[in-house]
Amino acid sequence: MTSELVIGGVSVPPGKRKRMEIPVAKLYDYTEMTIPVEIIRGKEEGPVLFISAAVHGDEINGTEIIRRLLARKKMLSRIRGTAIMVPVVNVFGFNRNVRYLPDRRDLNRSFPGSGSGSLASQIASVFMKEIVDKCTHGIDLHTGGGHRANLPQIRACIDDAETNRLAHNFGVPVVINSSLRDGSLRQAAADKGIPILLFEGGEALRYDEKVIRSGLQGIISVMTAIGMIEGQKISMKKQREDVFIARSSYWVRAPHSGSLRASKHLGNRVKQNELLGVISDVFGQGRVNVRAPKTGIVIGMTMLPLVNNGDALFHIATFEDVAAVEEKMELYDEALESRT
Ligand SMILES: [Zn+2]
Repeated sequence: MTSELVIGGVSVPPGKRKRMEIPVAKLYDYTEMTIPVEIIRGKEEGPVLFISAAVHGDEINGTEIIRRLLARKKMLSRIRGTAIMVPVVNVFGFNRNVRYLPDRRDLNRSFPGSGSGSLASQIASVFMKEIVDKCTHGIDLHTGGGHRANLPQIRACIDDAETNRLAHNFGVPVVINSSLRDGSLRQAAADKGIPILLFEGGEALRYDEKVIRSGLQGIISVMTAIGMIEGQKISMKKQREDVFIARSSYWVRAPHSGSLRASKHLGNRVKQNELLGVISDVFGQGRVNVRAPKTGIVIGMTMLPLVNNGDALFHIATFEDVAAVEEKMELYDEALESRT
């Protein structure tokens, strides 16, 4: 007994791999905006996992992660269940190298959306109906926005047991527990009871090789954990040792305008009151120190050294044992380096 799977008006029978375009909007130049999707359906029924990227149109690391995943033809030909790959959700932003939609709206604040709302809201609504509603699990891929880079990390509502299990299986050392009511795809999927992980890493409009490897590895681990692919199961004990849940996180903002010379970087441990960087004016005068108010790990930072007073400079997550997180992050980073 196999159920019918229809996406974008196209039926995908078991054992087939199909590409299609889901119409989302008619534009004023008489062209149609469509979201390209590839569906891989195994012969055997099983979990239905969507993997989406570029909900923010300039966050392209995820698109490359999906491209590499799609190249694993042998692995994908043997999956149980169905994988729905959406390399570019915000096609408009992707084509123009921008984060938002033409109306400057943030698609990731427009979920679950409505058929009679703004363009962003309509796209969100189609995505929910055509993709999310048909899935049992989801992974949404992001990078830092606005000239900021992120350490590879998972954001998820780990109060949900299955989401917690998947967050541990993904395998990146840093997990941020968050259940924001923010109109994101993650929130809309979670509201429907679909366990979903958000992977963050790198910065917009750049490929970051380690982040791409980290995301690819994590997705394959999750596919294994939910029984889509055969693989070596990782023991619960090892997962607990390898993954750290942040207690909280905070932003350090620029106390002054000027140019920033950062002395701490992604993955670094910072102690309370430790120097993060120095801001000075263009003549090298008026030096102002930027310090960490609380001990933690740098999980995000600006890549643009020209800063205005109040700009977000460093995103720092706090943990029970920051030394253990830093050490694990170094080992993880080395492993990504050597992996091909
Ligand atoms: Zn994003």
